[in-house]
Amino acid sequence: MKLTEQLLTSYARLIVRTGANVQPGQVVELTISVEQHEFAAMVMEECYLAGAKKVNVNWTCDAQSRLNFRYADQKVLSKTLPWEEAKLRQMAEDLPCRIYIVSEDPDAMAGIAPEKLSAVSAARSKVAKPYRDSIDGKHQWVIAAYPSLKWAKKCFPELDDQQALERLWDAVLRTVRVSQGNDPVAEWKAHTDFITAKAAWLNQQQFTSMRYKSSNGTDFTVDLIPGARWEGAGAVNHLNGACYIPNMPTEEIFTSPMAGKCEGTLVSTKPLSWNSQLIENFSITFEGGKAVSCQAQRGQELLEKMIHMDECACMLGEVALVPKESPVNQCGFLFYETLFDENACCHCALGAGFKEVLPGGEELSTEQAKAQGINDSIIHVDFMVGSDDLSIDGIRPDGTAVAVFRNGTWA
Ligand code: ZN
Repeated sequence: MKLTEQLLTSYARLIVRTGANVQPGQVVELTISVEQHEFAAMVMEECYLAGAKKVNVNWTCDAQSRLNFRYADQKVLSKTLPWEEAKLRQMAEDLPCRIYIVSEDPDAMAGIAPEKLSAVSAARSKVAKPYRDSIDGKHQWVIAAYPSLKWAKKCFPELDDQQALERLWDAVLRTVRVSQGNDPVAEWKAHTDFITAKAAWLNQQQFTSMRYKSSNGTDFTVDLIPGARWEGAGAVNHLNGACYIPNMPTEEIFTSPMAGKCEGTLVSTKPLSWNSQLIENFSITFEGGKAVSCQAQRGQELLEKMIHMDECACMLGEVALVPKESPVNQCGFLFYETLFDENACCHCALGAGFKEVLPGGEELSTEQAKAQGINDSIIHVDFMVGSDDLSIDGIRPDGTAVAVFRNGTWA
């Protein structure tokens, strides 16, 4: 498919109208790479056409981030400056619609010590977290992608620049349901209706736990929080009632399980790219809800570091169901970007859970949500466990098992 101005406009409009669902009078905060300044302008214009009051842009740059990590002191990088904190405070006041366009080179930070990356991100997250928590459920946000050449070359090193970029664009547009002359807004409506119906069915079942089995060695049971909802596709800003789609693409239905209540082993089925580095062919074994051991053919040290980022990073914050027919999975390659890779198949996440899945959850403090079983951590890292023969049973309160997934898809 040739990347035309018309396709790009259609995509920008989809991000603004269906993704963020920008409302008249809202402030928008757009985070995007300096390389993508032309697309930034297209997104900005769509925001204004939707009635935005003001669009502020946060420019990012892989090369500059890398230089900072290479030359600047860890202590210096870890410090959130007063003006940066003032900006966070302003965000908590303005409750802007936030649009993130990812286009990072997956190797941007290759060669930088993982300890330095983790320490800086942990220190900065600690300051930002209370502000982020305070706007949870009270603003709309969306993450979407814009392929960069370096990202495309990472996915398709054997192709020349032009071909690699075309392949990645084809895949991105396919997964976000944008094609020549189609109506992506209508296609997204049908797609999200399907996901919503599946989530409603799961919620009716009131499963108390989920049991996973696969021939690769996955043998795992996780308890759910009574009353916690399965959610998918859309979210709602509870202040103004605006529906939005936080992730484009999105294929998953997820919930936050009971922190500290799972047993058994999960075997990864796709590589995990964390802090620009790869963890491959790994398994994690849980006892009493905590990851007690892990084995990785590649990235063992990194995986251990991740699990020990803080006290609760060893517990699960998310379980998600994605059928193997997902267009991301059908693309058949690793995107090296969680936004896509987590929509390829069933996955779990170590770290923070989502308090919004609890009834009235957005009004709860982090501590109150934690008391009900929602994990809290500075990390949230998804890893894929869906395979072609994955079986998942939901266990009802009376102990009966209901087939949820068979052979990697809805039973
Ligand atoms: Zn997920």
